[in-house]
Amino acid sequence: MRFDIMTLFPDAVDAMMQESILGRAQKKGLIEINTHQIRDYTTNKQNQVDDYPYGGGRGAIMQCDPLYNCWAAIQDELGGHAHTIFLSPCGSTFHQEKAKQLAQKEAIILVCGHYEGIDQRFIDECVDEEISIGDFVLTGGELPAMVIADAVSRLVPGVLGDDICFQDESHWDGLLEYPQYSRPENWHGLQVPEVLLSGDHAKVDRWRKKQSILRTMHLRPDLFAKLRFPYKTRAERKFVAELEEEDDDFRNRDPKNLDYRK
Ligand code: SAM
Repeated sequence: MRFDIMTLFPDAVDAMMQESILGRAQKKGLIEINTHQIRDYTTNKQNQVDDYPYGGGRGAIMQCDPLYNCWAAIQDELGGHAHTIFLSPCGSTFHQEKAKQLAQKEAIILVCGHYEGIDQRFIDECVDEEISIGDFVLTGGELPAMVIADAVSRLVPGVLGDDICFQDESHWDGLLEYPQYSRPENWHGLQVPEVLLSGDHAKVDRWRKKQSILRTMHLRPDLFAKLRFPYKTRAERKFVAELEEEDDDFRNRDPKNLDYRK
């Protein structure tokens, strides 16, 4: 899978994307992340990429031509098939389902805006979708581009080691992940839940599923309300009923005082 990131700050993006898991995945040839300096595609002496907004107002707007020339050069190299995303606070909000969809693409171009944004005509002509990483405004699209490249890359087969399975993680099936513990067994008087030391895998699985449901219910009631999972199949309905039976406080625990060691 290939990402091409169009930016005014390629060094900042490269520094981050060459590290750790994504750096190793690139060395193994599982993913490719290229950055492109939009300024290299200007045709004026000053390499200026922005100008004042028509109609007045503060700030500068990135002009169509440098963006288009950069985008067209990448598309030419890729045979014109790359899915183009403009990172924008006006876009639809990024989430795990979108990451799964994007992981099916062979090539993605991520366009990072700066200043007050970019000329709408470039978006109209070249962009397939606009994505936001949340309802707030950042100074540039570089962090959002890296967020998307990271979230999508880790779903590409082989990028995570065999021992790390993203299907167990928060948001994969709409639930949050269960609490995790590592050595020592007792830290500051806080004991690791007994079931995790039992060696009984069926019991551990059941405990983890219960904690996932509880956590989602209490920490993200908005997600839980959207979730069809606990009630979808007979087996799942039975599972939730069993949890309620063994713990009659199951639905009413104080979110700030969840005792995960139970
Ligand atoms: N004037 C724009 C507006 O009000 O929507 C904000 C421009 S922002 C200062 C500059 C650039 O940062 C944007 O063009 C976009 O590429 C990026 N950006 C800022 N916040 C973002 C967010 N929440 N999600 C994705 N990209 C964002």
